[in-house]
Amino acid sequence: MALDIESFDILLPAIQRFVLERLVPAENYLEEHDEVPADIIEDMKEMGLFGLTVPEEYGGIGLSVSQEVLVNYELGRTAAAFRSVFGTNIGIGSQGILMDGTPEQKAEYLPRVASGELIMSFALTEPDAGTDAASLKTRAVLEGDHYVLNGTKRYITNAPRAGAFTLMARTGGPGAGGVSSFIVPANSPGLKLGKNDKKMGQRGTKTCDVILEDVRVPAANIIGGVPGQGFKTAMRVLDRGRLNISAVSCGLASRIIDESRRYARERRQFGKAIGEFQLIQAMLADSQAELLAGWSLVKDVAHRFDAKPAHASDPDISMRVSCAKLFATEMVGRVADRGVQVHGGAGYINEYPVERFYRDARLLRLYEGTTQVQQLIIGRELLRAD
Ligand SMILES: Cc1cc2nc3c(=O)[nH]c(=O)nc-3n(C[C@H](O)[C@H](O)[C@H](O)COP(=O)(O)OP(=O)(O)OC[C@H]3O[C@@H](n4cnc5c(N)ncnc54)[C@H](O)[C@@H]3O)c2cc1C
Repeated sequence: MALDIESFDILLPAIQRFVLERLVPAENYLEEHDEVPADIIEDMKEMGLFGLTVPEEYGGIGLSVSQEVLVNYELGRTAAAFRSVFGTNIGIGSQGILMDGTPEQKAEYLPRVASGELIMSFALTEPDAGTDAASLKTRAVLEGDHYVLNGTKRYITNAPRAGAFTLMARTGGPGAGGVSSFIVPANSPGLKLGKNDKKMGQRGTKTCDVILEDVRVPAANIIGGVPGQGFKTAMRVLDRGRLNISAVSCGLASRIIDESRRYARERRQFGKAIGEFQLIQAMLADSQAELLAGWSLVKDVAHRFDAKPAHASDPDISMRVSCAKLFATEMVGRVADRGVQVHGGAGYINEYPVERFYRDARLLRLYEGTTQVQQLIIGRELLRAD
């Protein structure tokens, strides 16, 4: 699946312009109001951003992974909240249906996802099951032709905006094999949302608990129709998601470097621009070299992702995705830190973008699997018997 080259050559510059002309100027509004302006969300729908990864047959644009990382790099060059509006839709919220859903599930949900009519979120994490997601406790008990769900999901991105959740619950015994993925409509009786979480950064993104009390979901809402496959679905979804977080990290790093070099040219000390001091140049150079290394890695893994057989899970690709997420998210943390340093005291002041990006970047090392989980995946694959 890929968008034809001519169309993609029009789409990518259009997204670059949208970021530069619409999103960057709205960053101050976002920071102040903690909301993405409604007219920007409408523009996003019109541009087809909600359907970037949904195949054309379901009304989307159908980007390949290699194309998707290029788009996410551009979207990474502004505040994270803008991408977050549709990011779960084209990413972890709906990919489970796309990868493993039945033809009926795809036909019912994907067109509404692509148009932006339906926002989907991904609900795996729980109060007692984060990194150890396979130990999740939310139970789904079969009663006739429905499952009854009870449990709490934590830190769910876009939950306050969601019309439906890809939600993992336990239908069987302990461990990964007892987990199924469900499509759970947000208006199901018994489903409640907690208060919006107050976060360190990423103003404008919304996360909260999703609480399930005797929520009845048709058995037909198990993704793929077969119980016990949900953990595999979740991990496949996260492989693609993690690569996109890596691309966003690279885009963010490039924006921070741009902000820093602009400041280095303007700010004067000791009678000259601080960019003339080699210690400042060293910080910029380290950031640039690390960015280019990370971005090369992300693009390489994306090409390999596209080359593998459709919907097959591949431990070598998962290992490479983890290398990309580990490197790119740690890299942007260092780049953000240097960005603040180049700005001196101004880097600590909220009106400068680097202060916000420093906080935004911190999340990238935590969600969709912490750095330590990526290390465990890489280590496990390296030590696997040949
Ligand atoms: C803003 C935000 C948005 C999020 N959005 C979503 C979402 O949309 N959907 C969703 O399902 N989840 C979401 N999450 C949850 C996120 O994926 C988890 O927070 C993350 O996976 C870590 O889980 P935890 O917070 O329970 O940390 P823990 O698992 O408690 O980890 C704490 C520390 O222990 C380390 N650790 C744990 N196990 C090991 C081990 N075996 N070896 C070495 N170190 C280990 C971790 O790396 C970490 O440093 C979001 C989180 C945040 C903060």
